[in-house]
Amino acid sequence: MKVHHRVNLAVPRIASGPGSLSSLGTLLESLGKSSSSEVIFLADSYMIRNKAKHGLETFFAESSILIEVPANEPTTTYLDSLRSEVLGRVKDVSNCLVVGVGGGVTLDSAKALSVLMTNDLPAMEYQGWDIPTRRAIPKIGIPTISGTGAESSRTAVLTNPVSGLKLGINSDFSMFDALVLDANLTATVPLHLYFYNGLDAYMHSFEILTGSYRNPLSDSLAEAALSLCEQVFQSPEPQSIGNRTKLMSASYLAGQALTSSYVGAVHPVSAAIGVLYAIPHGVANIIALNMLRTVYPNQYAFVGSVLKQNRIPMPSIDNFSEEVDFGRVVELASRHSLPLENALGEAWSQTLTEDFFHGNIREN
Ligand code: NAD
Ligand code: ZN
Repeated sequence: MKVHHRVNLAVPRIASGPGSLSSLGTLLESLGKSSSSEVIFLADSYMIRNKAKHGLETFFAESSILIEVPANEPTTTYLDSLRSEVLGRVKDVSNCLVVGVGGGVTLDSAKALSVLMTNDLPAMEYQGWDIPTRRAIPKIGIPTISGTGAESSRTAVLTNPVSGLKLGINSDFSMFDALVLDANLTATVPLHLYFYNGLDAYMHSFEILTGSYRNPLSDSLAEAALSLCEQVFQSPEPQSIGNRTKLMSASYLAGQALTSSYVGAVHPVSAAIGVLYAIPHGVANIIALNMLRTVYPNQYAFVGSVLKQNRIPMPSIDNFSEEVDFGRVVELASRHSLPLENALGEAWSQTLTEDFFHGNIREN
């Protein structure tokens, strides 16, 4: 095991438990909201259509700006245009707050917007580590589907549509200042999405725990998240309120673990096929795990068995592309060298080859 030292950041204020959405007003005030403040809500389209059912009507009605975030994974060009729109509409940038309500797409868009409102370069210039120099607008995250850990992680993942690079704005300024973790909001998630997205937390956990760059703090968080995921996904009632609360906690804990640790080989491959074939993150992870099943045989078996137990199809790359360009998959995945080294060792490029993937696909 390689010892490494990194600063573990954490979101300072968290309202949690079923019904905790009622704390949103208090949280906004604790972040400095006054009667003259402008609150910018970024919301998932499902949440906008179903705002009454989820108790969001009043919050949306009282917001200064309500933006419906498109379903696709956020791009640097989308964030540039979102920033222009918002800066053109607000009166005083220094008296704004941002709230993101939705899945990873909406949460990451809210995180990136808050950074870009005070940092002037195009979004693509901030993809990387610790590039923004100015403090972001205060922001609150409210996940409505569990899995990505975007609520607690330090990154806001964006794709550059020109270069194909999927890489986050990794900055202390991109972390949320407060969270609402209210599992009442996930009651309406369809079963297959509950698994496809929720398994992202399982992937984050085992990728951390099978890596070589480790520290006891992120290991402990990842172990707790892994255990919660196993309980939820093996339960006969995976979507009970108790299990939804556990999965929301697992998502948070695994994202928190990632602030001082690294993912493994699933995420680089998932990012590559996600960009190349427009596959959503959770589904791309499962396909990537299939492509890497000789590296992670037990985890692949676990995912296969819990999907089968719930009669959810195992996603296949064939549903997204007739012919996979493994050369491009290797090329794009290889840009994430640190997680690959974490999982496969320093000689990772000798393992992650076109032939490796061809071999795994033939075994299908
Ligand atoms: P998503 O945000 O697109 O949400 C998935 C779907 O669920 C959407 O169609 C949405 O409308 C629907 N949905 C959300 N809440 C719902 C509810 N309560 N009821 C019914 N439907 C609901 O997808 P996601 O998987 O949550 O996020 C994926 C994104 O997160 C990707 O862009 C990925 O790159 C990013 N990501 C970020 C991090 C991070 O640390 N920042 C980590 C992993 C992934
Ligand atoms: Zn992920």
